[in-house]
Formats: sequence, C-alpha cells, structure tokens
Amino acid sequence: MMHFSCDVCGKDMTRDGAERYVVKMEAFASCDPGVLTDGDLETDHIEEMAQLLSDLEEGGDAPAPLPACKKMRFDLCPACFRKFVNDPLGRESAAKFDFSPN
Ligand SMILES: [Zn+2]
Repeated sequence: MMHFSCDVCGKDMTRDGAERYVVKMEAFASCDPGVLTDGDLETDHIEEMAQLLSDLEEGGDAPAPLPACKKMRFDLCPACFRKFVNDPLGRESAAKFDFSPN
C-alpha cells in the first residue's frame, strides 16, 4: 500500500478517501534561442563534457552546477494546497514577516 503524507505539514493522507492534492512543478533555465551564435555551435561540447567529468572525478570544492531542468512533485493536504494556490511563491508570508504587528 502506498503511503502519502503532506509534503508541507506532514499530515498523513494514506487513509482511504483522504483528500490529497498533487502539485507538479518544472523549473528550467530560460534560454533565448536568438543568443545562439555560430561560435556556440562550433564549440566542441564533447571536449567540454570530458573536462567537466574529469573535474567532477577530482572532487573539487566547486559548488554543484545548477540543474538545467528540475521537475518536482509534491503531495499536499487540502489546507496546504489552499495556501499554495493562494500564494505559490510564499511572497505573502514573506511580506508579513517584514510588517510585524506592533
Ligand atoms: Zn499539509
């Protein structure tokens, strides 16, 4: 049996008939195709990739490169889903933090 719990508050949603909402997100680097030049096409990407891989194997301290594309999936309970659709980027709660009541 699959186990589901809310990815925000951790509420268990495994029970039959429990309301559950799925949020799918895809984040990727925006790339303007007009920026691509002949120079880009002539670059030896295989060479670059080989260099990149050998760098990785050396285990340097360089930060991991940002993923070009990241797909995410979240299971939310009804309460957290409602909060999410009203404020998907959490801007409202961030603003509230700045304007604390006296
Ligand atoms: Zn929740």
